[in-house]
Amino acid sequence: MLLLDLPPLILSILLAPFGLVFGSFGNVLIHRLPQENPADRNVVTKGSHCPGCKTPIKPWHNVPLFGWLWLRGRCAACGWKIPVRYPLVELLGGLLFAASPWVFPFGTLIWFKGLICGYALLILFFTDFTEMILPDVLQFPLMVLGVLFTLPQLWRPEAFLRVWMAPGSAVDVQTFYNGLQLSPATHGFQPAVTWQQSLLGLAVGYGAPALLNQVYKWIRKTDGLGMGDFKMLAWLGAFWGWAPMLGILFLGAGLGVALGLPLMLLKRTKGEAISGNTMLPFGCFLALATPVVVFFGRALWLGYLGVVG
Ligand SMILES: [Zn+2]
Repeated sequence: MLLLDLPPLILSILLAPFGLVFGSFGNVLIHRLPQENPADRNVVTKGSHCPGCKTPIKPWHNVPLFGWLWLRGRCAACGWKIPVRYPLVELLGGLLFAASPWVFPFGTLIWFKGLICGYALLILFFTDFTEMILPDVLQFPLMVLGVLFTLPQLWRPEAFLRVWMAPGSAVDVQTFYNGLQLSPATHGFQPAVTWQQSLLGLAVGYGAPALLNQVYKWIRKTDGLGMGDFKMLAWLGAFWGWAPMLGILFLGAGLGVALGLPLMLLKRTKGEAISGNTMLPFGCFLALATPVVVFFGRALWLGYLGVVG
């Protein structure tokens, strides 16, 4: 386990380029998955092209971050202004990968799970922000994955990995532990997510809002909430259990009110029409709420109980 037993700084430097590449692929997903034509949703065999003029992008112009800087943010062929979203998603991908060994012991299941969750939230934030779509093709596999992440701990609870702590000292951490296990790994343990909690999170995340929506439909004869939001809550429930999922829902709704209402009022003062189906990208708020709940939810909840009790 020599390679895993490295200082976080070295791991960050090794991981960051992968993060930039995954960020670059994230841009492809964000652009193509919400497309209406199934042929345009191909993210596997179709090469990158400029959305402005359809010219294929030269490989060296496609290098994350540097390609954009080199081109000064414009398509080499037609001068189409490349949205800041492209380098931003690449940068966030790089930061996500670089930050991962600082919060989770590198090489463990929770490190992988945290990375997958963070990457999925990055993509979904931007598909919801730009197109108000949370693609099923991502969210259904995430639901399955969330449940699968609870199984290895049943299979090998005694498996350990060595993690760097300080020069000449390392600690053993559980390889397949799937609850929050922050670096340094010796403290900050939280309860593991069991398969029961994961399944319950999936069911409550999908079921409760779907039921609410049925009631809404029955009264207003229209969909009040996007089904994509439920599916997002469902996979977040499968990843982190039902209780944190509810925390994400409440914090996300709070953020939606705090940030969304001023935005709607701003639209109104600008004279833009606001109809009954003016929707907020709720998935964006859920994506922002998730890391807060995952990392600080327990402390916030205990603090809240302390205040109330
Ligand atoms: Zn172009």
